Amino acid sequence: SAPLSIVRGAGEAAEHGILMRTGEAFQGYRLVDTIVLDKTGTLTEGRPVVREIEVYSGTEAALVALAAAAEAFSEHPLAQAVVKAAFARGAVPPEVAAFEAIPGKGVVARIADSEVVVGSPAFLAGHGIDLAPASARILTLEEAGRTVILSGRDGRLLGLLALDDKLRADAVPVVAALRREGLRTVLLTGDNERTACRIAGEAGIDEVHAGVLPDGKAEIVRRLQAAGKVAMVGDGINDAPALMQADVGIAMGGGTDIAIEAADIIILSNRLAALPLARRISHRSYAKML
Ligand code: ADP
Ligand code: MG
Repeated sequence: SAPLSIVRGAGEAAEHGILMRTGEAFQGYRLVDTIVLDKTGTLTEGRPVVREIEVYSGTEAALVALAAAAEAFSEHPLAQAVVKAAFARGAVPPEVAAFEAIPGKGVVARIADSEVVVGSPAFLAGHGIDLAPASARILTLEEAGRTVILSGRDGRLLGLLALDDKLRADAVPVVAALRREGLRTVLLTGDNERTACRIAGEAGIDEVHAGVLPDGKAEIVRRLQAAGKVAMVGDGINDAPALMQADVGIAMGGGTDIAIEAADIIILSNRLAALPLARRISHRSYAKML
């Protein structure tokens, strides 16, 4: 059976909406040197909102209707935001004949004999779509911290949607507290470098790994482990392999089941303040065992 100090620690954690469920949660977390945070849904609220739309071909109504149709079958928070924006504008999405989601990139849909592509600028460029009409705007928006997704049809750029996802209210004080404790803080995201750097700057995080494809997150954690013990905090399906790879995996309670199953610590309260708090509990429980 578990030592009494661990049982008490688990109880105290539970009172704060923190589920510490493995030995690593207690014995590993206090020894961590680096804490890696996923961006969307971990450092941010994970509820992006479409703030701006630009049309390069056709009408705005057609753009949002097509984009929403293509995104309707995606579970990605960006997709849900696009669908919401379309409904808010009274758009009627056309029927979709076939659909494919490419993790970390976007979606492709077959709609009335056309191929509709919605996703990151790099994804559309990879489909041979010329981004020149949008490239200056993309830079400006990404530098302002927006996530830009583009929509194209049959090789032609239709338009741009800029989305905004708020930092969690406690992100700034929590990152400051972690850094005061001497932890190296790292932002890890599939989003582009410019957006990631802006969000990291706002949160006070000094190191950024951006444009990381879902398979790449675990590899980054593995590399960071060369310098010490690593905790990874995430919420998405994408984050599960990195949570497993980390010495301590921490899942946001609002996250997907796969992330939650992979974690040593689950933040049921969904508050980042749980990160320094669980660390104090880990220290205290261990000290009492000695
Ligand atoms: P994160 O690490 O922020 O959760 P993802 O790895 O899920 O990001 O996605 C990385 C990027 O790929 C997004 O910023 C977006 O540009 C693009 N993307 C992924 N899925 C979609 C989608 N369903 N619709 C549009 N863009 C997408
Ligand atoms: Mg996420």
